[in-house]
Amino acid sequence: MKRQGIAVLGSTGSIGLSTLDVLRRHYDRYRVVALTAFSQVERLFEQIRAFRPEVAVMVEPTAASRLADRVRQAGLPTEVRSGAAALSEVASHEAVEQVMAAIVGAAGLLPTLAAAEAGKRILLANKEALVMSGSLLLEAVQRSGARLLPIDSEHNAIFQCLPEHFEQGLEQVGVDQILLTGSGGPFRTLPLEALEHVTPAQACAHPNWSMGRKISVDSATMMNKGLELIEACLLFRTTPDRVRIVVHPQSLIHSMVQYVDGSVLAQLGQPDMRTPIAHALAWPERMTAGVEPLDFWQVGNLDFEAPDPERFPALRLAEAAARQGGTAPTILNAANEVAVEAFLEMRIPFTRIAELVEAVMNHVEPVDASDLETILYADRQAREAARDRLAQEDTKPS
Ligand code: NDP
Repeated sequence: MKRQGIAVLGSTGSIGLSTLDVLRRHYDRYRVVALTAFSQVERLFEQIRAFRPEVAVMVEPTAASRLADRVRQAGLPTEVRSGAAALSEVASHEAVEQVMAAIVGAAGLLPTLAAAEAGKRILLANKEALVMSGSLLLEAVQRSGARLLPIDSEHNAIFQCLPEHFEQGLEQVGVDQILLTGSGGPFRTLPLEALEHVTPAQACAHPNWSMGRKISVDSATMMNKGLELIEACLLFRTTPDRVRIVVHPQSLIHSMVQYVDGSVLAQLGQPDMRTPIAHALAWPERMTAGVEPLDFWQVGNLDFEAPDPERFPALRLAEAAARQGGTAPTILNAANEVAVEAFLEMRIPFTRIAELVEAVMNHVEPVDASDLETILYADRQAREAARDRLAQEDTKPS
């Protein structure tokens, strides 16, 4: 069997590591053509040593030249490139068949678009790229005959529970509702008045999943579920009316699809991203992921509840952006990225994240998301508006 060429964008992150762990188990099926990171030299160097890709991209130039030295000294044949443009080059590299899009945030948009335009099979973890670009990315996929497979565990679960031809429209295939599950994060039961004082370390300590810092904070605010609502509407061509968010603290059901006849199909598994990664890599086949099977004698209870709108205002903001459409999700996403970064730098309290996003959404007018320039402009406008507000707060006497 010819081995498929894989590019892992964001290979040094949480999803990147899980992807390489799955690929390591299947040398006979896949070969790593490209690996990319932003600035983690040692980690990328170790990955190059283990996987011998043709190309490695280190976006940050000083880190790239340190990496190039290390690679040369070790006598490895990998070519090291630097700069953001190199990400798009490797995403559309002719030897690459599948692209794992696992860069965090808006930085992943252009390489994901490049992969789409080049007709690659895209394994989409980088939800921000889809949320901010909306149908533009989907249109590029359709134009080139590329394929988009969801890695987010919820969307991967929904994809597994939907019939093959769901693209005809959910109503046509008898779907009543998508039930998007979420754990509720680390602060689901914390007294509301304590939210003001939680630290980045507490926000990043997710009860079930081990993830990068940005998505961990998004899980704590449930903005992650809000972004996923927008992602689900785009991927499964539906509206927020057909998507219901269900809090399920154990994270064993990864999402469900309810049909008009009353049937509900659910996908269950360990909270381990190697399952959706292996599913998408091998699809439509199946292969091992290194994940322990669920033992139902040990599982105990499965609980469900409605999300608390007072505790999680980010859900209301994301739903509003999904309904507004156009560049509203771009604005929401950009403001959230700036707010999360400010929280991680301990410049604002946790509860200020959603407030800042709401202020920016009220300030920046959404327009039709007709082309990439419009989207990138809305992204810049929202970031500037968020940073201006932060700067004003920083200079206020305390
Ligand atoms: P991490 O923060 O762990 O990793 C991010 C990766 O992106 C790293 O390789 C990092 O490089 C790279 N990176 C960061 N900034 C840039 C940039 N400006 N340009 C190029 N590369 C950059 O994130 P996760 O792996 O947790 O998440 C990745 C994506 O997957 C996110 O969109 C997230 O929402 C999504 N996702 C993650 C899940 C998870 O379980 N972690 C679950 C579902 C979705 P470096 O290490 O050098 O900084």
